[in-house]
Amino acid sequence: MSHFRLLSTDFDGTLISHFSDGLCAPDFAAVLVEHKKSGGLWAVNTGRSLWHAIEGVEKFQPPLQPDFLLTNEREIFHRTPDGRWVPEHGWNETCYQRHDDLFARSMHIFDRIRLLAEGHPGINLSEENGQLAGVITSDEQVMHDFVAFLETERLKLPEFSYQRNTIYLRFAHSDYHKGSALGELCRILQISASDVVAAGDHFNDIPMLDGRYAAHPCCPSNAIPEVRAIVEKSGGHLASKPAAEGVAESWHFFQANRQL
Ligand SMILES: [Mg+2]
Repeated sequence: MSHFRLLSTDFDGTLISHFSDGLCAPDFAAVLVEHKKSGGLWAVNTGRSLWHAIEGVEKFQPPLQPDFLLTNEREIFHRTPDGRWVPEHGWNETCYQRHDDLFARSMHIFDRIRLLAEGHPGINLSEENGQLAGVITSDEQVMHDFVAFLETERLKLPEFSYQRNTIYLRFAHSDYHKGSALGELCRILQISASDVVAAGDHFNDIPMLDGRYAAHPCCPSNAIPEVRAIVEKSGGHLASKPAAEGVAESWHFFQANRQL
């Protein structure tokens, strides 16, 4: 039977809608079981931290556990047979090192961001390990304006990039995003892009939906227009159903088309 080797799914907005009870939809549960039965692997590729992702998956109650968690839009962890989450050391350590190096050269940008946030109650700074890591805005319009500001600020340091998802934004090296993390996972597993289905709904998913790392990109009906446009341009599938039901719909579409 024809099947895909890797399913890479975003979590928030893609598997659970913002208004859902957080539980795995039956259609998607059936896909996971069928996918696993044919030897497929499942990666949750999220902007959540490792512990926040583990918590979300626990509440989701899928019929089987993900094989991989790709977290903070850049780190890779794999699950051991006894259920522990182990970092892909080489990738993660290089990732941390390159971000430390970049952020040490980004103080002038961080100073400007702090100054802006001081005068704007809708822009809240978020820190990780005592280091400025991103912003949370009061609404999506404020985020839109903040991104316009950041685009100007990063002109002199193009490696200084960011990943955004609704009102959340994380500073990032331009080489690190959900797409490059997925690409590294495929390199480790020796899986080609033609064997990968990827599903996402928001800006931070775009790097894994442009066809480069997953030849079968898709999005649920609640995806933002920018994501729908990328999925369409890459020849992927736009589901008519929301969240996990939509991912299940797309997976069946790809399966049916592949078997033709
Ligand atoms: Mg999402």
